[in-house]
Amino acid sequence: MDYKKLVDVYEALGSTTKRLKKTAIIAELLKQTNADIQKLMLLLQGRVFPTWDQRELGVADRLLIKAIAASSGATSDKVEREFAKTGDLGLAAESLLRNRRQSTLTSRSLTITKVFDNIRKVAEFQGKGTVERKLQLISELLTTATAKEAKYIVRTISGNLRVGIGSGSIRDAIVWAFFGKELELKYDDKDEAIKVRDRADFGKYLDAVQSAYDLTNDFSVVAEAAQTKGLKGLSTISLKVGIPIKVMLAQKAKDVEDGFRQVGKPAAIEYKYDGFRIQLHKSKGTISLFTRRLENVTKQFPDVVKYAKEYIKGNEYILDSEAVGYSPKTRKYLPFQMVSQRIKRKYDISKLEQELPVEVNIFDVIYYEGKNYISTPFRERRKLVEKIVKSVPLKIKPCEHIESSNEEEAKKFLAKALDSGNEGVMLKALDAPYKPGSRVGYMLKLKPSFDTLDLVVIGADWGEGKRAKYLSSFYIACVDEDGNFKEIGKVASGIKELEDSAEGATMQQMTSLLKPLFTSEKGKTITVKPKVVIEVEYGEIQKSPTYSSGYALRFPRIKTVREDRKADDATTLNEIEKLYKEQNK
Ligand code: AMP
Repeated sequence: MDYKKLVDVYEALGSTTKRLKKTAIIAELLKQTNADIQKLMLLLQGRVFPTWDQRELGVADRLLIKAIAASSGATSDKVEREFAKTGDLGLAAESLLRNRRQSTLTSRSLTITKVFDNIRKVAEFQGKGTVERKLQLISELLTTATAKEAKYIVRTISGNLRVGIGSGSIRDAIVWAFFGKELELKYDDKDEAIKVRDRADFGKYLDAVQSAYDLTNDFSVVAEAAQTKGLKGLSTISLKVGIPIKVMLAQKAKDVEDGFRQVGKPAAIEYKYDGFRIQLHKSKGTISLFTRRLENVTKQFPDVVKYAKEYIKGNEYILDSEAVGYSPKTRKYLPFQMVSQRIKRKYDISKLEQELPVEVNIFDVIYYEGKNYISTPFRERRKLVEKIVKSVPLKIKPCEHIESSNEEEAKKFLAKALDSGNEGVMLKALDAPYKPGSRVGYMLKLKPSFDTLDLVVIGADWGEGKRAKYLSSFYIACVDEDGNFKEIGKVASGIKELEDSAEGATMQQMTSLLKPLFTSEKGKTITVKPKVVIEVEYGEIQKSPTYSSGYALRFPRIKTVREDRKADDATTLNEIEKLYKEQNK
């Protein structure tokens, strides 16, 4: 196919903002395409490599300016001036080539294949002494190109096509082009609407194209399969180790009860680590790591590569995991923000690896030793993870996981997860498949959102075992209109035994603050004068007949001691009533 046809499509796409119109334009082009559909599909998206591919063209603006100068007969200075006007080298090329002398025009026309192949060859020349070769390849294209063609060639090389097509339009266009006839699909330009024989059938085709894309992240492969082998071709597209797939995403659960309602009983419950997603691929001894956004981050994480080699059995696999940072000093998990710099960092990698180590928590397997596990129930996938991943805490391990049908047990697990510095838990249906790229109702995140209250300590319990010398859990209260303290529950989470950082409260500190305030002691429970105020995080306020305030807190957690506050500065019962009402709106 002539490159000119594609250029007409770029122009048409650039001149409308209507999504269906764009889809119709692309579909029409696809229908006319034959052998070169893969190349066309990539060029259509302004690229010569699929999104996940790390290869780069390595063409600086300076080189493009030279190429435009060489093919238009203008000086580099002139090209730069033209460039400065719009900030778009493509437009500069177009206007300068339009003015070139007639004699340089050839009668040859450019094909899709020629444009694609030349640009792709540019990527093969890397490093010193290759500039001339690159220049030659680009100039060759620009000399043969019309002014308009040159605009898009330059834009493609500089990585900014500026025609605005989303992946949704491309997906739809593949369906329209190759299944439109069967679907009796008609597009009405005036009404901006489509008609099909059967909506459900239409949905089926869209899903088939989307699924194939989620596995390959490459429309060129998908379009070719649809064109040459139809629906069957789409369904036989499989994942390939070394090529990232779109990961499965989670929906939300309001609370444990809601979670069970959605995923059924028994369910898998796992820690929700506050880290970042890593897909691990191993093929022929080589490990590759990809983020959720399909960036290849293998170079940034030599530690993870090493753990995978040492502690995961198998020659060929795709695993899904969350890497979470921890402090090398305290060995406690750190929030994502603190380790996020590791993802982008290109230098001092080994230093960063020491300063901000990560623990890899493997939670799923997608492919293993020649078998695709996408439709295998999660229960079996988890078993496989346990079999192949050695548990080496602070390096790599199968993620924390229980199976339960019991709300109380689930809540305890959630409290434990929060206590060990995680964001919450995930609830997963045990019989569900792995669905790449989808936000599915069988993987849920339960992340209590935390507000804080200032509450007064009115009593406490002594700890047990080696904590027997410390007060370890605390009865807390708000204050009513008349200055009476009304109990709202008991909190034991969030407190450490001894000082190991400037943050948070410790049992030692609480014990010495409360000891002088003792009023009575019964068994392991003491009551104290209401003087000490602590800041308590919580997930939700509930009505409760158990406590004198009439309320209780879910997931209460001690944040700090507010030595700056007095007991009558504490949160009032009125405020709590108000918060309760707002929260239930
Ligand atoms: P969110 O990013 O808030 O939508 O939460 C979902 C994310 O939690 C996933 O994309 C993972 O990166 C992360 N995550 C942490 N722990 C797990 C786990 N055990 N299973 C699945 N995802 C997890």
